[in-house]
Amino acid sequence: MARKTEAPPPTLPRERAPRGTPLYVHLPFCAAKCHYCDFFSVAAEGHDRRPMVDAILAEAELWAPTAPRTVFVGGGTPSLLDEAELRALFDGLEQRTGFRGSAREVTVECNPESLDEAKAAVLLELGATRLSIGFQALDDAALKLFGRVHDAAQSFAAYRAARAAGAREVNVDLIYAWPGQDLEAWKTDLGRVLDLGPNHVSAYNLTFEEDTAFRRWLDDGTLPKAPEELELAFFEATRRQFAERGYGAYEISNFSLSGQVAHHNINYWHNGPYLGIGPSAVSKVGSVRGGNVKSVGDYLRRIAERGDARVWEEAPEALDRLRETWWLGLRLAEGLSAAEARQRAGYDLPTDPLEPIAERLCAEGLLTRHGPRFALSETGLPLGDWVARKFLDG
Ligand code: SF4
Repeated sequence: MARKTEAPPPTLPRERAPRGTPLYVHLPFCAAKCHYCDFFSVAAEGHDRRPMVDAILAEAELWAPTAPRTVFVGGGTPSLLDEAELRALFDGLEQRTGFRGSAREVTVECNPESLDEAKAAVLLELGATRLSIGFQALDDAALKLFGRVHDAAQSFAAYRAARAAGAREVNVDLIYAWPGQDLEAWKTDLGRVLDLGPNHVSAYNLTFEEDTAFRRWLDDGTLPKAPEELELAFFEATRRQFAERGYGAYEISNFSLSGQVAHHNINYWHNGPYLGIGPSAVSKVGSVRGGNVKSVGDYLRRIAERGDARVWEEAPEALDRLRETWWLGLRLAEGLSAAEARQRAGYDLPTDPLEPIAERLCAEGLLTRHGPRFALSETGLPLGDWVARKFLDG
């Protein structure tokens, strides 16, 4: 079983992440809290943002890798920062990591209400290579239901602003199968997004996560969930439409033009190492996983006191790492082989005790096998998470 400690202070030895480790930076402020969102974030009003930038840089000073292969600045809503705050953040990260010379991809999450051409130009000048814009829906009533503070017109304006500023890679985030959504209307909306020509689209079936307003409303009966058959129809129509428009479905919910995949996220699905800084950020370095405190005040205090905001950590044993590697890797269209799973998990034995699960799922038609690689089949894809979880439970 995993060895888990609920610090403070954590007890496992900690060192700076090795050179090249992918870097995640979590900015916890948003214009308002969306009703479906379970990421750690707080409404920005009433918070002074500059101390957060300084604390993130102080954490980076001690723990961030030099020369990260990829950088992802997320949250939260990083585009909420003003130009001076963004300059302090990115220049500070550059001084501490040298990411501008090393990272093949630097993604910044942006929301429509805080992305105009000037902001996009600043982000690109500071080293961003990829802007990810949260459209979520094109229906203004749905955006209100979601608790979003922008309308669809602002989403299109933000997209045009990113391109006008020179962004070569733009991702659009979308959510489908929300309560009351009409399938034909979704196809039309998805078509309008694809007409823009984004390099990459993340399109997720709505989920009702714990500790969200949506989950409370689902539980008390005020918000219905789409029936499973309808969710399946949305899933299949979505995949069909992306394929017709030339987008590769390289992950269950992620689509890209001609191989323009999100490298930072592929590393997660490969169960690779990463270093997260900022409140709530999770890291996985070597065989140790740990996470920072989910509180703005506590984060600032802990960083000021000892440069570390980690409050939990665990060291999963080799078999648990192998289980997770299968679970994550099967989300990708490329799938994985038993040898790759062992290598990514750092599992030293010559045979994979989980391969029989993969073979059984093949026999049931939920996975396919090409040579040594297993991947979700057409039947298994809509059940992808359920199928992959067999490796966690089996
Ligand atoms: S803007 Fe993004 S991070 Fe912030 S509350 Fe909404 S979904 Fe969550």
